[in-house]
Amino acid sequence: MPRAVVITGPSGVGKGTLIRSLRERMPDLQLSISATTRMPRAGETQGVDYHFMSEEEFERHVCDGDFVEYADYAGARYGTLRSELQTRRASGKPVLLEIEVQGARQVRKTMPEAVQVFIAPPSREALRARLVGRGLDTPEQVEARLSTAERELDAQGEFARVVVNDRLEDAVDELVWVVDAATAAE
Ligand code: 5GP
Repeated sequence: MPRAVVITGPSGVGKGTLIRSLRERMPDLQLSISATTRMPRAGETQGVDYHFMSEEEFERHVCDGDFVEYADYAGARYGTLRSELQTRRASGKPVLLEIEVQGARQVRKTMPEAVQVFIAPPSREALRARLVGRGLDTPEQVEARLSTAERELDAQGEFARVVVNDRLEDAVDELVWVVDAATAAE
């Protein structure tokens, strides 16, 4: 079975855009859909972008040991359901997890064979500008995400593979190479 690929990095670094482009290049890639307690944004769909759920439902999954990893992030909870991962992996196709740094650390312990890639911004200023400019969050949320992003940037040294998201096409080229290598390794 191909190894799972974990894409991590600070909020606002462009993980979502990168992954969309990556999936256009590699349509076989299976994206693990996370569970979250945050409210859906405009245009987001239940079961497609996330498994949106209440605090109670999320906590029930925590108690039942249903998560491979989970974390609190900017006032909401996020996690990867074991069942979701199993379904995706059963296809025999490479599976991608897009998660924040605390979750990536847990996956490093529970799934050491997974390939982990840290997506870094070209600079801290670029990240700040992107988080403020994307207009998806309230000012309070932007502040929460910025302070978390600062801490997340400090974690970069823990990751053997770092892809700098400067020019999108270059970053996608690198990711295609990493995912190909992870798939070919089995
Ligand atoms: P957003 O609210 O912008 O969709 O996501 C916020 C952060 O949560 C992002 O850094 C994203 O990668 C992360 N995230 C999404 N799903 C999961 C998950 O299942 N587990 C963890 N640990 N983080 C996640």
